Amino acid sequence: QAYLDRIAAVDSDVHAFLHVNEGALAAADAIDASRAAGEQLHPLAGVPLAIKDVLVTTDQPTTSGSKILEGYMSPYDATVVARSRAAGLVPLGKTNMDEFAMGSSTEHSAYGPTRNPWDLDRIPGGSGGGSAAAVAAYEAPLALGSDTGGSIRQPAHVTGTVGVKPTYGGVSRYGAIALASSLDQVGPVTRTVLDSGLLHDVIAGHDPRDSTSLTDAWPSFADAAREGARGDVLKGLKVGVIKELPDSGFQPGVAASFRASLDLLEANGAEIVEISTPHFEYGVAAYYLILPAEASSNLAKFDSVRFGLRVTPDGNPTVEDVMSATRDAGFGDEVKRRIILGTYALSAGYYDAYYGSAQKVRTLIQQDFDRAFEQVDVIATPSAPTTAFKIGERIDDPLQMYLNDVTTIPANLAGVPGISIPSGLADDDGLPVGIQFLAPAREDARLYRVGAALE
Ligand code: GLN
Repeated sequence: QAYLDRIAAVDSDVHAFLHVNEGALAAADAIDASRAAGEQLHPLAGVPLAIKDVLVTTDQPTTSGSKILEGYMSPYDATVVARSRAAGLVPLGKTNMDEFAMGSSTEHSAYGPTRNPWDLDRIPGGSGGGSAAAVAAYEAPLALGSDTGGSIRQPAHVTGTVGVKPTYGGVSRYGAIALASSLDQVGPVTRTVLDSGLLHDVIAGHDPRDSTSLTDAWPSFADAAREGARGDVLKGLKVGVIKELPDSGFQPGVAASFRASLDLLEANGAEIVEISTPHFEYGVAAYYLILPAEASSNLAKFDSVRFGLRVTPDGNPTVEDVMSATRDAGFGDEVKRRIILGTYALSAGYYDAYYGSAQKVRTLIQQDFDRAFEQVDVIATPSAPTTAFKIGERIDDPLQMYLNDVTTIPANLAGVPGISIPSGLADDDGLPVGIQFLAPAREDARLYRVGAALE
């Protein structure tokens, strides 16, 4: 009830939610009744959970931020949603996002932008700005997001929250509407590292319905966070700092906060090691070929026949006319831009030059990480180059929007896990800043230890 009251009080300003679950209180009451009956419940039972609208749910509509899916009801729950329900978490509502998770500001939502609770004129990051804003505005204690190129970590950075992109394959993608299948991962957005660990524990683990799901048995991430908060895990920890990442690309307040965090790490016994990952900065260029290629293919299923919207032009339209009118009306400009980019990059004659080259760069980035992790335990970067920018500031400049993802994208290309935790407020504009840690694939627990120690 407290969270529903908070949503009623602030969400007309913040617009974190696309849908609030009318069944939330009844679900919470059912948990209370089970508890009263002496049933053994999961520690998170009864805790409300905000769910990014990219995840399908049977009891609430799922739009992925698009008009083409307006009012769509899924016949099944995403695996992460099913696991959350099974643990007794109460779905609180569906959160706003850039259409089909394409964007860094939530301005590309077909349902209007979300606003940053720290400053309502500014963006909450994207694509999962709704989940991050909901947590930052105390409209939800926990949220789920998805991260294809930073959509969990960058919103966390600009809203002063914690966001985790798990190792690729660590969390099921079943029922997460695909943006780029080789990059997508679902993960937690919360106020503390421990909260993320608790939620990550609920959603992690093998799912036979996702063909890229790992069969690993994961350690408890909540325990890793508790260990980090308690112990002196920073002593002797080798933290890599990328020498090719130029200071100049970062807002002074972001760079200063990053350096202050490194000093804090060092003061607590960590060793800062300069490493070289020469292809890191080419991640953006490779990603914006690989992602549109995969997205253009994934979005082909929105054909006016199987899902959602159907627009039938006047006269005697052919099937192609109906598909074309539906996609024209149902998709926004950013989605159309990426479909065009992707089909072009995949077309005969250009495939090797664009998609093929991008895949080679992806391999080089993976090899950079492999070499770096022979020298260091984790890599640290600022989570994004700037603090929250103003709504409208970059909307007409896609390249500026894409460059915002420079620090987050390489983790998705390499499949390694990443966390963004708050590192304070920028000394130039007073807005939240995050520090990102990356670890080798399957070493997500390391991020929880380090994150909780620094928190
Ligand atoms: N900003 C990136 C993009 O626009 C990230 C998207 C994501 O992680 N879903 O593609």
